[in-house]
Amino acid sequence: MSDIIQLLPDSVANQIAAGEVVQRPASAVKELMENALDAGSTNIKLIVKDAGKTLIQVIDNGCGMSETDARMSFERHATSKIRKADDLFAIRTMGFRGEALASIAAIAQVELKTKRTGDEIGVKIDIEGSEVKSQEACNCPQGTSISIKNLFYNVPARRNFLKNDTVELRHIIEEFQRVAIPNPEIAFSLHHNTTEIFHLEGGQLKQRLMAIFGSSYNTRLIPVEENTGIVKIKGFVIKPEFAKKTRGEQFFFLNKRFIKSPYLHHAVQSAFEEVLPKDSFASYFLMLDVDPKTIDINIHPTKTEVKFEDEKAIYAYLRSAIKKSLGQFNIAPSLDFDQEAYLYNMPLKPIDGVFKQPTITVDPNFNPFTSEGATRNKPSERELSNRNNWEKMYSRNTDIQPELEIKQEEDTQHTIDTDWDNELHESNKKATYQLHNKYILSHIKTGFMIIDQQGAHERVLYERVLDTFEKHKSATQQELFPKTMELNATDFSLIQELLPELKAIGFDISEFGKQTFIVNGVPADTANFDSVKLLEGLIENYKLNFQELRSNKRENLARSMARNMAIKSGKLLTQEEMNNLIDELFACKMPYSTPNGKPTISTISTDELDKRFKK
Ligand code: ADP
Ligand code: MG
Repeated sequence: MSDIIQLLPDSVANQIAAGEVVQRPASAVKELMENALDAGSTNIKLIVKDAGKTLIQVIDNGCGMSETDARMSFERHATSKIRKADDLFAIRTMGFRGEALASIAAIAQVELKTKRTGDEIGVKIDIEGSEVKSQEACNCPQGTSISIKNLFYNVPARRNFLKNDTVELRHIIEEFQRVAIPNPEIAFSLHHNTTEIFHLEGGQLKQRLMAIFGSSYNTRLIPVEENTGIVKIKGFVIKPEFAKKTRGEQFFFLNKRFIKSPYLHHAVQSAFEEVLPKDSFASYFLMLDVDPKTIDINIHPTKTEVKFEDEKAIYAYLRSAIKKSLGQFNIAPSLDFDQEAYLYNMPLKPIDGVFKQPTITVDPNFNPFTSEGATRNKPSERELSNRNNWEKMYSRNTDIQPELEIKQEEDTQHTIDTDWDNELHESNKKATYQLHNKYILSHIKTGFMIIDQQGAHERVLYERVLDTFEKHKSATQQELFPKTMELNATDFSLIQELLPELKAIGFDISEFGKQTFIVNGVPADTANFDSVKLLEGLIENYKLNFQELRSNKRENLARSMARNMAIKSGKLLTQEEMNNLIDELFACKMPYSTPNGKPTISTISTDELDKRFKK
């Protein structure tokens, strides 16, 4: 038999290798932006069309390339960044493998225009599926412009694998931020289709963060700085009171490269331990600088994990640096003008001699149950029959089924011996008992049931929101004073995407300039909530559910609304509120579990109780 092993043609090898480097438009964005950084640019412009599927273009004002280098740059393992193995241990550039351009050129149509400082004329190269289509002199500005058109045009399987534009754009924004944050002295911009999403001037890190995440960050950031022999730490953490429930904004940069490190994250989280609300995550933007010799550089550049030589020491330094900053912030509350004025203006003792409790903006009399009456319709057939079934099952007394009650009397007669007992039972028919402001206990025919108040209310609200979607019947309460809401780019594009759904459930929101929405109205039954807080909470939850629910926007929104509007564990309820909640719960299609599948009700039978008391 003849030999069967062959070398793959370059084009095929390149295509295979490309899969490792370029998974989606955002990976190409990362590679191009890093090349622009390595070229010493001070201004980097990113232009994308259709979330990078049709065009990704990066224009820089860096060193540019000679004609030969321009041609060479598309060869595999062609790099100007290392020459010998030793160089590997001193790498400060973002790239060094010489793979990115070769990979990208294998799976897209690429146009490169470049000119070096001092050169009269530049060069333009068109390359498609690793094949050079044309090369000519061109009159272009100093620096480099690379356009990647129709990514994966020749790898349909990959192209089909791409997510919708919103998702792909979100990945691009993420990569853009990961490059823009650690390089605040460089100007960046990001254009998508006809909008400029970011326009970042060169400046300090704090300005950069404010330009990306909103000017409100001005008062949220606490500086962190520490220089040790092993690591230089510099950056900001977010004040604990602005911590988020989602993992949100957590950025580590190692030698200006974005990295993920659960280990170092733990260091930060533990520094925040005592000051962070439960279930919240610290937000941070921290630059670590170490000698490149002390990190494992064999790690693939597209991966974000790193291995440190002095991991434990870095952990300890990081933790103590943050603790120190938090301490300074707590003990000597910054020289923030507002805060100081507040301290000085505070009377030592109030005039009437009594310290008033701080007021909260929430209406303490707000009853989440009564407000429903106004917007809810009469119970449907299904609700009625569900209620009836439940009544049959539990024989809980209500007005709807008086006959059942009599039956129940008979049924339970044998367990109630004395008149007194009977009396008590009578008055307790509808009585419920709240345990630890968290659970509602109620009689049922065969024993008692325990209802988780928060979970139960979530179920009720969840079905109501889904119902609103289905019936296209929402009620909007106009805000007396429309509020503006400034968001970071990711959240802004998320709300943009969700606008039709938000409208369907009663929100009246419109875009209002750059990364800002104006809230004109809210769903009628949320009129007692702070609309901006509610929307922010909604987005947070939406992102949390995103992995699980993917593109099911309605389901996700319904869950998120329910989560945010539900009465919480810890809230004291009146008898009436408890009864209303139970009635509403049993009018649901699926009363027994929360939207997330946790139980809402647990029952304990008298038999079980008897057993416990060894009867
Ligand atoms: P690497 O960055 O790992 O060296 P790339 O494939 O990304 O590999 O780029 C290959 C080479 O092309 C780089 O080493 C650099 O010399 C050159 N190059 C790429 N992009 C630019 C750019 N924007 N400006 C100047 N030179 C560039
Ligand atoms: Mg590179």
